[in-house]
Amino acid sequence: MAKNPLHCSFCGRSRDEVKILIAGQEGHICENCVEHAREIIEQELLVRDDKVTSSFKLTVKKPMEVKKFLDEYVIGQDEAKKVLAVAVYNHYKRLQQKLTDTAATNEVEIEKSNIVMVGETGTGKTLLAKSIARMLNVPFTIVDATVFTEAGYVGEDVESILTRLLQVCNYDVAAAERGIVYIDEIDKIARKGDNPSITRDVSGEGVQQGMLKLLEGTDVLVPPQGGRKHPEQKLIKINTQNILFICGGAFDGIDKIIARRVQTNTIGFNVDKELQDNMKKNLLRYINPQDLKSFGLIPELLGRLPVVTHLDPLDAPTLRAILTEPKNALVKQYKKLFDLEGIQLTIEEEVLNFMVEKAMEYKLGARGLRSICEGILTDAMYEMPSSKETQFLLDLEYAKRKFDKSKLSLLKVA
Ligand code: ADP
Repeated sequence: MAKNPLHCSFCGRSRDEVKILIAGQEGHICENCVEHAREIIEQELLVRDDKVTSSFKLTVKKPMEVKKFLDEYVIGQDEAKKVLAVAVYNHYKRLQQKLTDTAATNEVEIEKSNIVMVGETGTGKTLLAKSIARMLNVPFTIVDATVFTEAGYVGEDVESILTRLLQVCNYDVAAAERGIVYIDEIDKIARKGDNPSITRDVSGEGVQQGMLKLLEGTDVLVPPQGGRKHPEQKLIKINTQNILFICGGAFDGIDKIIARRVQTNTIGFNVDKELQDNMKKNLLRYINPQDLKSFGLIPELLGRLPVVTHLDPLDAPTLRAILTEPKNALVKQYKKLFDLEGIQLTIEEEVLNFMVEKAMEYKLGARGLRSICEGILTDAMYEMPSSKETQFLLDLEYAKRKFDKSKLSLLKVA
């Protein structure tokens, strides 16, 4: 006997066993199969095949070109720029070597060059990492090390670092696998003290341990929606071998560790006083992995972060340059904003110096420059669009008046 034509052509359930049966040209589909098909499509789209050509086309530049590019966005920090330029160039050279060489001919394996940048907050660490990613045209994400905890504790699993990378490139796995991750505040997951405590160090060492496998280059199962891994979630496999990890942190107090080491090294030698004074001025220049270990990063983690560099504190001339020189300098941005209203903004030199002075005085760094500009210019930006003016001259008297009225002037540090 011919089967009742009213049944689902996919699962075979009859009309009475399902709620809805949708008719097609030559068959039917039930609501269960529609739902099932939707899940399959979602997962297939998520876990794209590596062969799918990634929409991110890699642009590799020579180290000197990288540095030149960074110069357009970041003022000073020459040492960090050079180190980064070489590390990034080598990383991508290695990546290309992997693509072209076969396992048989590839005898020398170039190791991954994950990087640690040490420098006070607001000196341009994130900006450097961001600019590098922009230049290379690869997916880039910033994560904060403090939100992660050891698996099994409240907080996010370290794997969700890669979730964000996947999200920025729309789950294009091939692109994510060549991306750059900037892990901020790496110093905050330092081991507290040298003695392993009897209670578990949830936020520090455990997280460092968790990060090891991400950094070294293995297959990691990543929850597509981030957060905690739970059984219902289909995990995406990502190979981290070609993902460049750049870590940054202020490492408050590390100068003392460096000083101790440098001094011990020079005991018994006749070191001239001037040289010593010079060294003291910016001890970060002498940073090495040993100091990071003394600070509380575990040796295994440091082993996977072979490149260590530092950022200089920002002095007044650097802050002054930051206001006007980078491609998207603050002053250029404000001029553009006024320009869009048909108003020509002129800022007197003295005002720029005043802003720098205040940023230094209030220890606000480069980040503070923006708040200072806002404090001074908000009223003008509020009033001008409704006026008929076509010119606005920002002079020292106006800037001082507005600054004193702004909330910033209350922030003064003792
Ligand atoms: P960090 O990551 O070191 O805490 P950021 O890179 O986030 O600091 O810097 C904060 C902001 O300060 C940046 O967005 C940028 O506008 C400015 N800035 C800091 N340092 C520099 C620099 N060397 N050159 C240009 N701008 C800088």
